[in-house]
Amino acid sequence: MKRVFESLQSRIIVSIFAAGIIPIVILHLIILNACNASFVYQRMSEIRHRCSLITTQLGTYSSIEESLTPEVAERLNWYSEAYGGRLLVIDDEYRIILDTYQAQKGKTCISDAVFAAFEGGIYEHYASNSQYLEFVLPITYSGANEKMVTSALVFSSTTRWIGDSMKRTKMYVFFIEGVLVCLLIFASFYISYLISAPVKRVTREIEKLNVGNFNTDISGLTSYKEIDGIIETSSQAIQHYQEMEESQEQFVSNVSHELRTPMTSIRVLADSLIGQSNIPEEVYQEFLGDISVEIDRESRIIEDLLSMSRLGKGNESMNISQVNINEFILDIMRRLKPIAEGRKIELIYESFRQVHADIDEVKLSQAFVNLIENAIKYNRDGGYVKVSLDSDHAYFYLKVTDNGIGIPQDALPHVFERFYRVDKARSRVTGGTGLGLSIVRTIILLHYGVIKAESTYGEGTTFTVRIPLNHVDITGGLG
Ligand code: ADP
Repeated sequence: MKRVFESLQSRIIVSIFAAGIIPIVILHLIILNACNASFVYQRMSEIRHRCSLITTQLGTYSSIEESLTPEVAERLNWYSEAYGGRLLVIDDEYRIILDTYQAQKGKTCISDAVFAAFEGGIYEHYASNSQYLEFVLPITYSGANEKMVTSALVFSSTTRWIGDSMKRTKMYVFFIEGVLVCLLIFASFYISYLISAPVKRVTREIEKLNVGNFNTDISGLTSYKEIDGIIETSSQAIQHYQEMEESQEQFVSNVSHELRTPMTSIRVLADSLIGQSNIPEEVYQEFLGDISVEIDRESRIIEDLLSMSRLGKGNESMNISQVNINEFILDIMRRLKPIAEGRKIELIYESFRQVHADIDEVKLSQAFVNLIENAIKYNRDGGYVKVSLDSDHAYFYLKVTDNGIGIPQDALPHVFERFYRVDKARSRVTGGTGLGLSIVRTIILLHYGVIKAESTYGEGTTFTVRIPLNHVDITGGLG
């Protein structure tokens, strides 16, 4: 039951119904009260008129006995019956000389209203609770030069008959109300359908996502500003998801391709050894050497992929400590020196000040090794690699400059992409996986830093890294 009232449609139905039924109930009460009042008013003015005619007739003579002839008495009986009431005529000694009910004739009637009538006053009273109305009027004789009250007329009657008339009116009112309530129910269902239909449409479209149908387009399904906002955000999320999905597919296909390449080479090398007999020892040695190189390549790709997967865990995997960056860089350069010397490449270190920063030593070392290794790999024999370190109050800056082969302008924006290599053949020779710079960038981002590449093709390349000195977890520890 609770779930029913959680639905937008049922809430709209209830709201419209409540908004409509309240005026109907109020109108119901107002109409019935007004009808009742109008019946009473109408009947009272009728009786008032009739009574004034009677008092005029009974005031013909100065003596009431004279005026109250048997014919007049007969007519009064008739009136009293016609109006469902009782008529009394009281003389100036407060004796009842006519009672259309015959019950109290001859008795004395003393009441304030009767006294007031003998003073010329008119008394009218309607008691709605006891459903009773009463008129007391003076009967006045108007002679040539005198005016005197000869007696009083009392008319009393119940008003139960109003109930009968009201019954009919109530029936009409209930009938009209019934029609209005039916219309209200219909309108509330219809309006709630109109309002909630677009929301349902959006829900249906979004439900398609659950079954993996990402081709659904949920934009422009409603004209509601609020829902459009939700749709736009969801659309962006879906688009982002689709892109992620695509890039995931692309990545898996790239990985398979990259892993298959060394395997194919190994197979070709092994097959050619198997297919020949009496192969000289040197050829064996050479082929096995090549196979070993390919196995190394395969291992490197797998290592890089594992590295990427570890970095994918985000902030969780960060192991931050304060490190002297000058010594940290010098240590990396010492490790790479043999490779540089192998190609007669000069390694230059330049530092402007002592720098201490919060870093993950293992990860950042992997990133910086990669940058400096690349500067050596994509260099010319006898070239140089210059590593310079500087800082300000908030960041430290590492620049790795080489005067190597450089990167063509159109390739520059792609060098951080996974498996991207400018020159596939050369990269193969140098043993690159194409994952290095992508890993570097992820590591720099995990340090809330930035990296950028500048290059002049044929002249050299500079990678600049900027990392905050203090590692403040800006995700608030969520990520
Ligand atoms: P790889 O494992 O092939 O070196 P990276 O992701 O490290 O992959 O680099 C991507 C590509 O960027 C390289 O294949 C190379 O073509 C180019 N590159 C990277 N560093 C340099 C550099 N210092 N000089 C010239 N080209 C570079």
